[in-house]
Amino acid sequence: MRNIAQFVNGSPFDGAGTRFGDVFNPNTGEVQARVRFSTDAEIDAAVQAAAKAQLGWAATNPQRRARVMFEFKRLVERDMDLLAEMLSSEHGKVIADSKGDIQRGLEVIEFACGIPHILKGDYTEGAGPGIDIYSMRQPLGVCAGITPFNFPAMIPMWMFGISIAVGNSFILKPSEKDPSVPMRLAELMMEAGAPAGVLNVVHGDKSAVDAILTHPLIKAVSFVGSSDIASYVYQTGTAHGKRVQAMGGAKNHGVVLPDADLDQVVKDLSGAAFGSAGERCMALPVVVPVGQKTADALRERMVAEIETLKVGISTDKEAHYGPVVSAAHRKKIADYIQIGRDEGAELVVDGRDFHLQGYEQGFFIGPSLFDHVKPTMKTYQEEIFGPVLQIVRAETFEEALRLPSEHQYGNGVAIFTRNGRAAREFASRVNVGMVGINVPIPVPVAYHTFGGWKRSAFGDTNQHGVEGVKFYTKVKTVTARWPEGDHEGDAFVIPTMK
Ligand code: NAD
Repeated sequence: MRNIAQFVNGSPFDGAGTRFGDVFNPNTGEVQARVRFSTDAEIDAAVQAAAKAQLGWAATNPQRRARVMFEFKRLVERDMDLLAEMLSSEHGKVIADSKGDIQRGLEVIEFACGIPHILKGDYTEGAGPGIDIYSMRQPLGVCAGITPFNFPAMIPMWMFGISIAVGNSFILKPSEKDPSVPMRLAELMMEAGAPAGVLNVVHGDKSAVDAILTHPLIKAVSFVGSSDIASYVYQTGTAHGKRVQAMGGAKNHGVVLPDADLDQVVKDLSGAAFGSAGERCMALPVVVPVGQKTADALRERMVAEIETLKVGISTDKEAHYGPVVSAAHRKKIADYIQIGRDEGAELVVDGRDFHLQGYEQGFFIGPSLFDHVKPTMKTYQEEIFGPVLQIVRAETFEEALRLPSEHQYGNGVAIFTRNGRAAREFASRVNVGMVGINVPIPVPVAYHTFGGWKRSAFGDTNQHGVEGVKFYTKVKTVTARWPEGDHEGDAFVIPTMK
């Protein structure tokens, strides 16, 4: 059985841990590799290597650091096909979607290539007589990232791309379900010219996360995953004096006003609800049509659209989506469908019985559609994270606005309409962090920032963009005085600019 190693101080390192995680091929249901979980001592060794490397890396001028980022981008593009195949084989998403996962990460690397400009700092000449003030952003030291299974390329790159470019070293703890691509990215970072120790990969579950959250040399932790764990990571990390940003789960709504272009909406919804088997934090698993006429028309077209969907293995070019990540996750989705039915929602399309011929042991599940879902239902309130679309009917714009605003999660939301005034009002008033107007998956581009509200994010700094740079740096402000002649005034009184 193939073992997936750690990556410490510039080399793969097998380690001595006795606990392992199974890495499945979700198409066949077989275990294709094992990942050895790092021991606390191995995590400490990785942190020590990172701390040692960080000093020289921070002293490397930003243009040289940017050159490493340019080269890393070139190498990832060179290996795009191989990386996408590797990603699909462990995650189950189709190849085109894996390429999208890698590409969205590379866009953050592109942003990081501009780091010399972004780190220039501020300067005030003549803030007082002979006084100049300048402020700069300096790296924190060793930072860490803990990432979920669903974007094993993009989310690690959101984190280490910015953190390394600003002069930190990094410990990445990827999901134990699909760790091969993050490992390969670390190797490519070395090939690109980053010094050994600048990017390290350790493996594990809660125990590895706890070792990171309590390690005194780690200054900041970025986490993306489910909300209960995000909350735990935020509480534990901050209690140990770390800066923490912890992104959590989601239940994004798509509000459809009566004037929307329904043909377009149905296409958009289908991709956003069922693409990547619904395993996206920016998926749209809830649609809120306004008015019964809109709801009936939407439902009819959605049923027809679902009939055209092809579920297939992740290398099938014709497939719209592939298997989910594990048998346990497939069961969880199927259980939620049963709960929804028991709660009284109408199960219009039931994807539970889907089987792919020749791949009977694969983790496949067909698309499901519920109608007449009510806000009081558990299946509405909780994240399912599978190919399940729920129709929640609203009578008015105000009711539709209230649903995502009052939901426990507040990651993304979309409104579909031709009415600019209604869209503008919705975007302004809705209590959610990322809004799409006729855009079903409003993931901001790399030079903006990514982050939800409410239980979708703990901490107050978003991922990537300028907020990402702020997260991974601290500000130093220098006040310099070069007076002519003797100093006048009372040295015991706080200086003012009066
Ligand atoms: P998860 O919470 O199970 O795992 C995330 C990370 O936490 C993994 O690295 C895992 O090893 C670690 N972990 C697992 N159990 C732990 C524990 N008890 N204590 C500490 N750490 C633990 O999430 P997942 O299933 O890998 O990913 C899916 C979830 O991530 C969904 O809820 C999805 O909405 C969310 N997600 C959120 C965003 C966002 O930006 N808001 C983006 C992608 C995914």
